[in-house]
Amino acid sequence: MKLQKPKGTQDILPGQSERWQYVEAVARETFASYNYAEIRTPLFEHYEVFARSVGDTTDIVTKEMYDFYDKGDRHITLRPEGTAAVVRSYVENKLFAPEVPKPVKVYYMGAMFRYERPQAGRLREFHQLGVECFGSSNPATDVETMAMAYQLFNKLGIKDVVLHLNTLGTPGSRAKYRQALIDYLTPLKDQLSKDSQRRLEENPLRVLDSKEKEDKVAVANAPSILDYLDEESQAHFDAVREMLEALKIPYVIDTNMVRGLDYYNHTIFEFITKVNDSELTICAGGRYDGLVAQMGGPETPGFGFGLGQERLLMILEAQGLKLPIEPALDLYVAVLGDVVNAAALEIVQAVRLQGFKVERDVLGRKLKSQFKSADQFAAKTILTLGESELEAGQVTVKNNQTRAEVTVSLEALKTNFAAILEELF
Ligand code: ATP
Ligand code: MG
Repeated sequence: MKLQKPKGTQDILPGQSERWQYVEAVARETFASYNYAEIRTPLFEHYEVFARSVGDTTDIVTKEMYDFYDKGDRHITLRPEGTAAVVRSYVENKLFAPEVPKPVKVYYMGAMFRYERPQAGRLREFHQLGVECFGSSNPATDVETMAMAYQLFNKLGIKDVVLHLNTLGTPGSRAKYRQALIDYLTPLKDQLSKDSQRRLEENPLRVLDSKEKEDKVAVANAPSILDYLDEESQAHFDAVREMLEALKIPYVIDTNMVRGLDYYNHTIFEFITKVNDSELTICAGGRYDGLVAQMGGPETPGFGFGLGQERLLMILEAQGLKLPIEPALDLYVAVLGDVVNAAALEIVQAVRLQGFKVERDVLGRKLKSQFKSADQFAAKTILTLGESELEAGQVTVKNNQTRAEVTVSLEALKTNFAAILEELF
């Protein structure tokens, strides 16, 4: 058992990894067009980085952290999410300094770790594509960031993702609403799930997005945050809605969606889609204007999201979307006998250096099984190199599909494979 992967982890094998790379390439291209640059932070951080920011009553911190003491007795955590780590880095590297152009926009992609019960779309090691924008409190930033995620889904061809929008308002509005919610829920306490009874004490907003049936019933008539927004909160929310509408990005207002992390204010959102009849959040984020200051930096507004890469790929699969991935070889060189081993190497190297994808036999197999390999690698063209070809200085390159062929000099092959391909296709 010890020689198998730990529960909740996955190997991403060839055949799958191309899909990951494709999604990442589209994401990089999309993020870059919004002027985002990549940031890479450590996979592990001091425990306090997450405990202080994500919130020490949240599920992530109370139940899901992979934390341990290292040999130097430091309390370390494998990162459960990206935002806190990026904010830590923003402050530590003084990216708030006037000489750093504003807003500071960074994206990351990589592994996150949470001790959860593994199930479809829920792993212990999973991957997020995430973005963070620092320095803008303009609602246009909220909207362009949500639009960016929306554009990414569109580029990948994903259908039926719905933007769920809510606001937590200013800390003042949120506090007033929190009290109203406590007043509403306290008489219903006995009807709540065990977890939500605890949440009511520690983090009452979290009761709203509980997945337990009894909690859903209890919160059905709960007061709405929208009735507790002060002027500033209302103005920000209205502006976000108007700009989303101007960009024709469809959304629904979902006042029971509150997000699991403590650091949000104003806009929060999730992109939700259906996979085999159950709803799945692929992307979630929002505004966190207090977080940079809370982590020791100057007052700096922030906005960002995290997008679950496994879930994204699951949805691509479930929606049957073909990705434009090119696994094909341009040329397969079948090798006839050890005497041409070195010559075959020179040929594949020369063609590779021209920018083509080339493979050859290295196992000294019978021609028949070499041709089978060529088919498995989806080779577009194939040639056989033996002693006679070498002596003649000529080879026959075949279109592996139509069987059309052309005989060319080794010199031509080594210097202009493009012309040969042209002739065969
Ligand atoms: P959920 O309510 O599904 O537990 P969350 O609120 O914990 O999600 P976030 O912390 O906002 O999720 O993470 C952002 C995104 O990362 C999620 O929308 C989801 O796509 C993905 N994600 C979160 N946890 C996991 C996990 N354990 N395995 C795979 N993907 C995950
Ligand atoms: Mg979670």
